[in-house]
Amino acid sequence: MGVARGRLAPTPSGHLHLGNALAFGAAWLSVRAVQGELLLRLEDLDQGRSRRDIADGQRRDLEWLGLHWDREVPAQSTRSYRTEGLPTYRCDCSRKRRLAGVCSHRDTPSVTGAVRLRSKQELIHFLDRAQGPQSFVPDQDAVLLRRGGEPGYPLAVVLDDYLDGVTQVVRGGDLLEPTAVQVEIYQYLGWAQPSWLHVPLLLGPDGRKLSKSHGSTEIRALRDAGVTQEQIWAALLPLLGCQGQGLAGAEFDASKVQGGTCVAPNLNTLLPGFRA
Ligand SMILES: [Zn+2]
Repeated sequence: MGVARGRLAPTPSGHLHLGNALAFGAAWLSVRAVQGELLLRLEDLDQGRSRRDIADGQRRDLEWLGLHWDREVPAQSTRSYRTEGLPTYRCDCSRKRRLAGVCSHRDTPSVTGAVRLRSKQELIHFLDRAQGPQSFVPDQDAVLLRRGGEPGYPLAVVLDDYLDGVTQVVRGGDLLEPTAVQVEIYQYLGWAQPSWLHVPLLLGPDGRKLSKSHGSTEIRALRDAGVTQEQIWAALLPLLGCQGQGLAGAEFDASKVQGGTCVAPNLNTLLPGFRA
């Protein structure tokens, strides 16, 4: 058994918000609970939207939240990705054509266009540490390399996690279903999967998906408004099944993490601009 290794993988196209804090808090607790190693990796595949100043702000926010990492590994934009070992075909159809079901490139591949995974399109099973056994059929043949050769997210994240030696993936619940494609890629490559843990989607005090209408939930805005790190964790830790005082003293048990969607207690006290 090697060392347990997790990662914080922010996308530097927007500032960190409370939902990110919940997911990164879970990743931090999960790896610290087993004295593992925590990596920081910038997921900046979208070069048009990724910004260096936002990445710097994210590092600052993570430090301020007490989410210290052990080392930073190369950002996705600096890596190269190959589809070796994966069954693929090229398709140059527009999204509209694919949705209309008229793409025939699975049978007669295009010579140009995006490289797609030839999915078995069967049920993929995996275990989520919080939400239990999961089964999904990948909803389409995922884009592994875009038309211009840039990697798609499913390929990049699997190769990164494998090469970085990540043994536990902890992230937001919006990525629960897309995990199926990633599991299929692991299966094709014959690689051991990491363990999976998806945290709940955070709702505002009114029970609706957290959005700008609740006031800014950006960590830097909360900090500027005088909210403390302790207040943020007091609101978020119960959603991760943690009792105890603050992040450092919290006892983490993945099976107690709530699933689905959650309203954080006392969230309205954190959101100065909140309008019910
Ligand atoms: Zn096609």
